[in-house]
Amino acid sequence: MITRISYLGLGTMGSGMASNLLEAGYKLAVWNRNPEKSEPFAKKGAGVAATPADAVRGAELVIYSLSNDQAVEEVVFGAKGILSGINEGQIAIDMSTVLPAMSLREQEAYAKRGVDFLDAPVFGSKQESADAKLWIMAAGNKAIFENVKPVLEHLGQTVHYFGRNGNAAAMKLVGNLIVALEMEALAEGLVLAQKAGLDLNTVMKVVKVADFRSPLLVSNGQNILRRDFSPSFALKLMLKDASLIEKFAESLQSPIPALRVAKKNLESAVALGVGKENASALIRPLEKEAGVEVKAHRVS
Ligand code: NAP
Repeated sequence: MITRISYLGLGTMGSGMASNLLEAGYKLAVWNRNPEKSEPFAKKGAGVAATPADAVRGAELVIYSLSNDQAVEEVVFGAKGILSGINEGQIAIDMSTVLPAMSLREQEAYAKRGVDFLDAPVFGSKQESADAKLWIMAAGNKAIFENVKPVLEHLGQTVHYFGRNGNAAAMKLVGNLIVALEMEALAEGLVLAQKAGLDLNTVMKVVKVADFRSPLLVSNGQNILRRDFSPSFALKLMLKDASLIEKFAESLQSPIPALRVAKKNLESAVALGVGKENASALIRPLEKEAGVEVKAHRVS
């Protein structure tokens, strides 16, 4: 049974997951590039490491959630990275959203050190991470998956197994393709509704119940009406994911015409200086073009 876990990357997603591991009673060591984010964990009894290599020593399981492929490159493969500290028999799980090709590279590098590796990205955002309600996908050796599944169940409400390494990373990109298009559809729809002079609260009441409803449309729609763009999934991360989806789809010669439109809009939003806002801020360039601001007088 796994009792000692190291968690690296205490950002929006990682901090929620690490807290839930502590809460579940695991002996936890943490590392974050900016050490300030480790302090609340030290107060709750976690060990704090100075480098990724130090963080992984003595852990049965090493988990990380980092921004992007470059961050994984540095934290896993870099000087004082995970690979320079990890040993045979340990297990590593990457929960970041990265290219499937990166997951395969990680798996190969870990295998050379006798370490088992799963790619296990997630759906859900800040709230789901904090509430241990994430939707988790995992890929890699099945026996290793069964071994770590009880740990993942402390982080999420569902855990789906996807077979060989890279497949969970691929599923994450498939899902985020759908998410990006839903966000684009919501933004275009709300701007059109505003231009048409519709009552936006009533628009959202319909979005909530109609056959095209989705929790993502409802929560983001309501926040747009409140002009609340505080980040749970930063726009710049969605643009990063759009680039990954584009690269992945191109490698498989799979058409993504609508994703290219959404990506262009995300780029325009970043150019407006709102990359750190929530991904729903991709409505801003559309509002600018339309000459309107989508805002309800009263949000019900
Ligand atoms: P975040 O809040 O920006 O946190 C990113 C983490 O990566 C931080 O711990 C950051 O360290 C670290 N990091 C970035 N570059 C680094 C580098 N070069 N070296 C070392 N550490 C580095 O991002 P997040 O929202 O938690 O997302 C984490 C991953 O989950 C991403 O792959 C994202 O796409 C994915 N994801 C996010 C959501 C969401 O809704 N937020 C949902 C599903 C999946 P510092 O604190 O030092 O900057």
